[in-house]
Amino acid sequence: MNSTPIDISVVVPLFNEEESLPELAAWIKRVMDANGFSYEIIFVNDGSTDSSWKVIGELAAENRNIHGICFRRNYGKSPALYEGFKAAQGRVVITMDADLQDSPDEIPELYRMITEEGYDLVSGWKQKRYDPLSKTIPTKLFNATARAVSGIKNLHDFNCGLKAYRSDVVKHIEVYGEMHRYVPYLAKNAGFKKIGEKVVHHQARKYGSTKFGLDRFVNGYLDLMTLWFTSKFGVKPMHFFGLWGSVMFLLGFFSAAAVGIMKLWRVYSGSPYILVTDSPYFFLSLTLMLLGSQFFLAGFVGELIARSNPRRNDYEISQTL
Ligand code: UDP
Ligand code: MG
Repeated sequence: MNSTPIDISVVVPLFNEEESLPELAAWIKRVMDANGFSYEIIFVNDGSTDSSWKVIGELAAENRNIHGICFRRNYGKSPALYEGFKAAQGRVVITMDADLQDSPDEIPELYRMITEEGYDLVSGWKQKRYDPLSKTIPTKLFNATARAVSGIKNLHDFNCGLKAYRSDVVKHIEVYGEMHRYVPYLAKNAGFKKIGEKVVHHQARKYGSTKFGLDRFVNGYLDLMTLWFTSKFGVKPMHFFGLWGSVMFLLGFFSAAAVGIMKLWRVYSGSPYILVTDSPYFFLSLTLMLLGSQFFLAGFVGELIARSNPRRNDYEISQTL
């Protein structure tokens, strides 16, 4: 890759998209040339089993702005983005799906929003989608949850593959697992505040088929919970487990005491009474105390892990004087 500054890096993660690649590369080139941008296209081949990698080789031979990274096996979209981000050299980094659902015609405006309006991240919003209903309805729910949990109120479409970043952002966040759905949340947690949105055109998939099934929503929800938890309590798990453990334990302790006192009261006042172990409240109290202690223990173990986390003192410093 050359050393003169590049305006735009386009990172394209792909898995078995051989038919789309030549069209996509030509389209991106057309847009870049028309606007006079210097650019690079980084195709990250995520272990495709078709001839995608061969096609990328042919494209790279024709256009020296095209580069490729090839995984030995299929790792997933997030790992592909991670490697693409690491390699990207442009001032602005744009990610795009390889299936031609995202339009390269959006690039100039995304670039302008980052460089002139000062956005850290601009996410595409497929306001009018060309996907089956089975996907669009759960997506609405998914986005509403993601907005509420992440606190990024202005995004309608977290999972849009078309996004633009200031280079700083991609160099300071770490996408892993299946966290590509929450890159804006990761950016926000790293202290990048100016997150915007742009309505983008969306097209039906032209070739091939989608690589994600409905399990994306289950996994997406679990990942969101993980991110929420680690961003809030990652280095201080006791603040979560300790609090709820104490609440449960105390509730259990006082209700067990109440069951006992009531029994004694009845014995002494001569009213009819039952065995403490015949009362359901006794067992509820016991369960609460046990759960509370378990939470507390989880908190201690969490603290031990947090203490040996090599990144426990990893802060984002934007400037020093
Ligand atoms: N993708 C990938 N690795 C995977 C699955 C998908 O790199 O394991 C790529 C895929 O080739 C495409 C993008 O991620 O470029 C989005 O995938 P897809 O179009 O199947 O998702 P959808 O549009 O249905 O959300
Ligand atoms: Mg797609």
